[in-house]
Parts: sequence; structure tokens; C-alpha cells
Amino acid sequence: MAKTAIKPVGIDLGTTFSVIAHLDAAGRPATILNAEGDIITPSVLFFDGDLVIVGKEAVKAAIHEPELSVAFMKREMGSSVFSRVINGKKYPPEVLQSYVLKKLKADAELKLGQVKPAVITVPAFFDDPRRKGTQDAGQIAGLEVLNVINEPTAAAIAYGVQEGFLNSKGESERTERVLVYDLGGGTFDVTLMEIDGKSYKAIATDGDVYLGGVDWDHRIVDVAATAFLKKHGGKDPRKDPSALTRWLHEAEEVKRALSAREHTNFTCDFDDKKLRVAITREQFEELTADLLERTRFTVSSLISEAGISASKITRLLLVGGSTRMPMVKKMLQEEFGRAPDQSLSADEAVAHGAAIYAGLLLATGQGATPTVTVRNVNSHTLGVLGIEKSTGRNVNQVIVPRNTALPVSKVSRFQTAKAGQRSVVANVIEGGDLSGNNATRIGKCTIKDLPPDLPAGTPVDVAFAYSDSGRLTVRARLPTLGIGAVLVIERASGLSEQQVKQWGDVVGSSKGPLELNED
Ligand code: AMP
Repeated sequence: MAKTAIKPVGIDLGTTFSVIAHLDAAGRPATILNAEGDIITPSVLFFDGDLVIVGKEAVKAAIHEPELSVAFMKREMGSSVFSRVINGKKYPPEVLQSYVLKKLKADAELKLGQVKPAVITVPAFFDDPRRKGTQDAGQIAGLEVLNVINEPTAAAIAYGVQEGFLNSKGESERTERVLVYDLGGGTFDVTLMEIDGKSYKAIATDGDVYLGGVDWDHRIVDVAATAFLKKHGGKDPRKDPSALTRWLHEAEEVKRALSAREHTNFTCDFDDKKLRVAITREQFEELTADLLERTRFTVSSLISEAGISASKITRLLLVGGSTRMPMVKKMLQEEFGRAPDQSLSADEAVAHGAAIYAGLLLATGQGATPTVTVRNVNSHTLGVLGIEKSTGRNVNQVIVPRNTALPVSKVSRFQTAKAGQRSVVANVIEGGDLSGNNATRIGKCTIKDLPPDLPAGTPVDVAFAYSDSGRLTVRARLPTLGIGAVLVIERASGLSEQQVKQWGDVVGSSKGPLELNED
């Protein structure tokens, strides 16, 4: 690999906010302020004709023209069906995310010069299509994605190095078992990690892609809307996209105020009618108790799945803006009998850890000895959908069980279904029950042009290689024939290589120099 003077960056590509960091001259992680002078950039887009505005300005513009604005695209990453149509043009989630990355990159370049190599963080429970989508978004934005890293792993690295339970090389003096509770704007993620010397090993991970601060905001809007309808009657403000955006905005302010105070007021209007409702922290906690309970349930089932007792956990780390809600600390204190660690900026820790990891990867690529090793687990089972011969029913043959240490390579044997079969298809799935219901289809691996007259029951080996960054390669082989076939993994979702390139041209294009008219 050619040596490069370009410094790598770490990017926390969040559901509601994103952060970019680099390593300063002393090798310490530092957040790069955006062009507006802020640490965090809202992951919100506004399409102003040909121009895509990202961040704070987009949030403001969205209030008046919500149909030209996009937020929460991280929740849709890797989806085979989601795309937003804006000004008559269809945008897949990867492309929408790439606009956020492009803004972070451009703002960082004002300070650092050219920015290219990057590590982007993803929730630990992100499945393969979502990870691939994130990497594609980076490529479309003109970044060289060194790797994706799980958000809790990044947070643990940053906390550990900065709080001193890890030395400057990121090594621990004793075995640390760290539980990272990450409640952001749109996602919840919990991971149990073991840090032993320079080895970082995720033991178990779980999460909820549809649970985050915004769900708490909606509860406030619901209460306010009910009060509004009771007082004024008429149309529900939640049915009006512009009003809903404003009301959610106000609800978020109320929620933040309730993290600092015992009570506040929700003040909003709709259809020229005003509303002011008092809300106390106690009421807010009652209204959202089931949401918090979902996180408690995930934490306790993760600990029992990992097979270790809560007393063996040496640290509780809080990550994500929503952990500032006092109810989170209270719940964890009750659950573990001790206060969680929250001395660092919940907003910056993930990006800082990603910057440290990016620096390590780049140095390793240039021949240095790696200072820390990172081991992940897979957050979903991986298998192949086969057909049971006796019943003809679909069966999910799990090849890599959940929470297996990565990287992992496993082979599983199948057989052809009937005589004279000219091709075999392995449908690769992630998650799902024994019959493959509710699974995510990752894609299929096909061996074509098999010789004629192949008997039924000819063995087919399907091999999975799951890298430590959570990306999957699938190969299928017919061992008795000794033939190596050309294998195609057709992904069930996401963009093709060509589409990534094409979108890169679209997102990367500037309007070019201005024209000057003739005199
Ligand atoms: P993140 O994705 O980690 O940046 O977290 C963003 C979420 O944190 C949003 O839902 C914010 O409303 C929420 N948040 C930030 N600060 C506070 C606060 N002081 N109290 C409650 N929620 C907060």
C-alpha cells in the first residue's frame, strides 16, 4: 500500500446527528467542528432545487417544506423497498446517507485538507445489507472506507483510552468487562465487551433499530395533540406534516428541558389556535415507561445469554444523547446496583473511537504492528434456506449462530433436490425463525450450467466466510464433481457496484464554474 500523508477520520453516522473526528498532532482524538461551528451535524437533508442542504439549515427549512426534507434514513439503510422520491427523483437510503457524509467530509477538509480514508461506525446489530449500505454511502461520498466498526466497540476504545483504564496504546491492565448502553436518536444498541490487554472482544450484542429518542418525542406530541383536540376539536395536528415537524421539534425541546428540570410547558399552535400544556418529569417518565422497559429487557436478556453474572461487569458505559434522560441512569442503577460511567461526552465518544481505530488501521496497512485487536460477534444468525426432503417445507439451516466470534468460516453440506438439475441456488438469510420466517434475505448464491444427468442428492457445500467487520462472502461448490463454478451473490437489496459509481458521480458533482455572458 502506498504511503499517504492524508490523515484518516472517524465518523459517527448517527440517525439524528453525525460527528467527525481525527487524531491531532499528539495522536489524541479531536472532534472537527462543522462549517457552522458545531460539534454535531443533524443527519437531515433538504432538497433546494439541485442543491442538497445538510444539517442545521436543513432542519429549519424542513419545518416549512417537509416534503423536500429527509431524516432518519439510517433506519432504512439496506432496505430493499425504501427509497424517497424528491422532485420526481428516487433516492435510495445509501445515497441519502452519502449526502451527510459528503457534508462532514467537506467541512473537515476546510481544516485538514483532503479527507479520504475513514472508518464509519454502525450499530452492532446492523445486519450485512445495512453494513454494506453504509460502506456504499461512504464510497458515494468520495471516502475510502477503511472499515466499518461497531459503535459500542468504538465507544469502549474512546472511553478506555481517555479515562485511563486503558493505556495510551489502548491496552488494559486487567480484564475489563464493559457493558455499553447506547440510546441515540433513533436506535438502541447494547453490547457486552471484554477488554484484555490489547484484545477487544465483543461477547454479545443486541439492539432495536426502531427505538430511540424520537419515540420519546412522539409520546409528548401524542399527549399534546390529545389536549389540543380536547380543547379546540377540528383537525389532528399530527395529520399535517408541517405541524407534526414543528410539534416534534417542540417535544424534543421539552424532553431536553425535563432532563434538567422537574417540569416545563409544551407550547405550540395549529390552525391559528394555541396550546400550552404543563408536563412534569414524572408524567413524562410514566408516558414512556414501556419504551425504557424495552431497553431494560434487552439488557437483561443479553446478560443472561452471555452467561455471566451482572456482578462480573466492571463498567457501564452510557453512549448516545438519549442517555442524558435521568430515567436511563435510574433504571441502570436499579438493575446493576451502581452508577453508570458518564464522564465523557456522549455525543463524541463514538466518533473519537472510530478515529483511533482508523489511525490503527492505516498504521497497520503501512506495516506497523497493530496495537489493539478488535473481535466482533455477529448479531444475527446466518443460514441458508433449504427444503426438508420428507416434508417439502422450508428450513432455516443456521450455519453461523448468533454471537459467534468473528472472523468465522463454516461449511455446511446440502444436496441437489432432483435428478438432472442444471443449477443450484443457495438462498442466504440472516435472522428468522426455524422456517426462515421474518428473516432478512441477503441474497442468493447460484451455480449455473451444471452437467446434464446429475443424480438427485448430489452433495453441495455452501461455505460462509464472515469477516471481522461483519461482511459476508458465500461460496458454493459441488465436491464430488470437483467443479469450481462461477458463483454469483445477487444481493436482495442495496446497490450494485455500477450503481454506487453512478451515484458517486451524481452526489460528487458540483455545478461547475459560473458562466459569464457576452459583453
Ligand atoms: P445521538 O443520536 O446519540 O446524537 O442522540 C440524539 C438523541 O439524544 C436525540 O433524540 C436527542 O433528542 C437526545 N438528547 C440529546 N440531549 C438530550 C437531553 N439533554 N435529554 C434528553 N434527550 C437528549
